[in-house]
Amino acid sequence: MSQTVATPPSTQLTAERMKASMSRLQAELTAKFGQDQAIRIRRGLHQVLEFWREDDGGASVYEDFVRRNFAGDQASLDLMFDRFQRLLEQLDGHMHEIVREFRNQQDLDVGPVRSYDETFGGYDPSAHVLDDFFQNKLAFTILLNFPLTTLDERINLGPKWTRRQWAETRLAQRFSKRIPADVNLAIAQAAAESDNYITSYNIWMHHLVDDKGQRLFPPKMRLLSHWNLRDEIKADYVDTEKGLAKQRMIQQVMERIITQTIPQVVIDNPQVDWNPFTNQVAPTTVNDSNSAAPINAKISDTPEPSTRYAMLLKTYHAARLADPYSPTEPTLIARRFEENRELPEERVQAILEQVLTSPLVSRIAKLIESRLGRPLEPFDIWYSGFRPGSKHSESELDAIVAKKYPDAGTYQKDIPNLLGKLGFSPERAQYLADRIVVDPARGAGHAMGAEMRTEKAHLRTRVEKSGMNYKGFNVAAHEMGHNVEQTLSLNDVDYTLLQGVPNTAFTEGFAFVFQAQDMHLLGLASPDARTEALKTLNDFWGTYEIAGVALVDMAVWHWMYDHPEATPEELREATLQISKDLWNKFYASVFNKKDVVLLGVYSHMIDSFMYLPDYPIGHLIAFQIEEQMKKASNIGTEFERMAKMGRVTPDLWMENATGTPVGAEALLAATEEALKQVGGQP
Ligand SMILES: [Zn+2]
Repeated sequence: MSQTVATPPSTQLTAERMKASMSRLQAELTAKFGQDQAIRIRRGLHQVLEFWREDDGGASVYEDFVRRNFAGDQASLDLMFDRFQRLLEQLDGHMHEIVREFRNQQDLDVGPVRSYDETFGGYDPSAHVLDDFFQNKLAFTILLNFPLTTLDERINLGPKWTRRQWAETRLAQRFSKRIPADVNLAIAQAAAESDNYITSYNIWMHHLVDDKGQRLFPPKMRLLSHWNLRDEIKADYVDTEKGLAKQRMIQQVMERIITQTIPQVVIDNPQVDWNPFTNQVAPTTVNDSNSAAPINAKISDTPEPSTRYAMLLKTYHAARLADPYSPTEPTLIARRFEENRELPEERVQAILEQVLTSPLVSRIAKLIESRLGRPLEPFDIWYSGFRPGSKHSESELDAIVAKKYPDAGTYQKDIPNLLGKLGFSPERAQYLADRIVVDPARGAGHAMGAEMRTEKAHLRTRVEKSGMNYKGFNVAAHEMGHNVEQTLSLNDVDYTLLQGVPNTAFTEGFAFVFQAQDMHLLGLASPDARTEALKTLNDFWGTYEIAGVALVDMAVWHWMYDHPEATPEELREATLQISKDLWNKFYASVFNKKDVVLLGVYSHMIDSFMYLPDYPIGHLIAFQIEEQMKKASNIGTEFERMAKMGRVTPDLWMENATGTPVGAEALLAATEEALKQVGGQP
């Protein structure tokens, strides 16, 4: 039987030699450092060997490396820990500084962007750092001395760890994968290809015709699937005349995309008219674009040949290439949940189902029906009518803001005052303001935190020539929330290795808290209880919708891992079935319709490697943080207490912050209250 083993003799010989080295070193080092180091020694030797490749050197190189780098007493270990913590902060901080400088021309409102600016902006100077650290064996030094952990250990043992143990855990995790450059390249290529497919998937809305040949949408309107299509459904609620017909037509378009019965020729093509109900196509009779007809495009109703699912399959095949190099998380599914989210998949599933099966769903559905004056239709998963208007008109607010903040500098100067209004002490407000730089953004705005303590966080917001407008101020309040979190969780955390928050949902929660205070920051009356209640209902309905979408994404990835040889057509059929099954389970009774495929429409599912569960989990986490802030008498001190926890697991962070782990209870309880507040007056 041993004859059939495919391993080449030389490799097998190497493996045996390395194992022999390992036993020899185990005995030698235990004799040298004592029995109480035996467990550390065994673990370190094993961790190094797991990532060691032939080109790292033979048995003698391995032995020599271990002898010189094992820290067998506490003093040497402390020294090593401190040195790595300090130097990795420098590495991350300066790399980030380069990235920020390289992106400035693109990110800031500072004049034209040349083609070389785009190249600078797309350059990542740290792309090869991990490879380098394995090559020069600094990564092996960490793996020899500090423990790799599983999510299970971080969840079950983590609450009892010291802060230093947590910092060591994060230090080791940086080197828990050694993915070869060609695998990373293959993943990046698959991501780019599917992303290209998605970003050119436009529908020319004026070219959609109904059975009477009418065009419901205005000329030139070009909507990207799915984002713009969904947002158009949301916007159409205020169109009392044609809104409903438009929404039904968009749903039909979405279903054609999901089922791939959409004629290939209508995708991003203003040269044809299309009736999405009958699926008839014809040369267009209107010209609302300057684009020429695509070369060789025949006008026929030949459907798109499952390209959507072929793209998804490519991302799956690419993602799988990394599996053998990620020993603690050997599938993309495991990497997403255990490494990126640090929440077990079963828990995420249970939390999402808790929202989906809540009795509140049917109560809110009834409320929406009474507000709409008709039974719900499937596209009403995107109902947007709970968003309340403001007491002040937008132009009124624009004038107030422009007078206060004619330029970015005046906002910068006002930061201590604004933070004071949120309850930070004068000293702490000044401390934070000293670490935030305000820049005029080219786009809508964003927050860019620092990665080392000598650097500052950057707040980017749009300032028009006539001064800041209300939208810019609202965005600035949001970004300032990010910046304050970024500053506290870098500068005030006890170990820089624990810098940050568990994941982006947490920093979004902080940003929403600040953003919701924008009226108070302007010295105007804060939203009343009814407005707050409507916002909560809007949050709930949005979470209910995206929870189902996330479950589709998760089930589809499991199906792909279970059917590695599947064709695009088989994946299409499976996705349709999964979408229908989840609809039938959680939505059909609310919307009085079965077998709807709409949950499969999100473009992220095609190009984002199972990103979608981040949305509903993010909603819930942000909501928990916002609710905790409402309970606190002072946002400032509560904010500081929470942000200093650093990057531990989401549950541990949330327990420290709010007394309970990540979950849906806060949203469900607030929704119950909101229904009481709004219920009587739909
Ligand atoms: Zn944000």
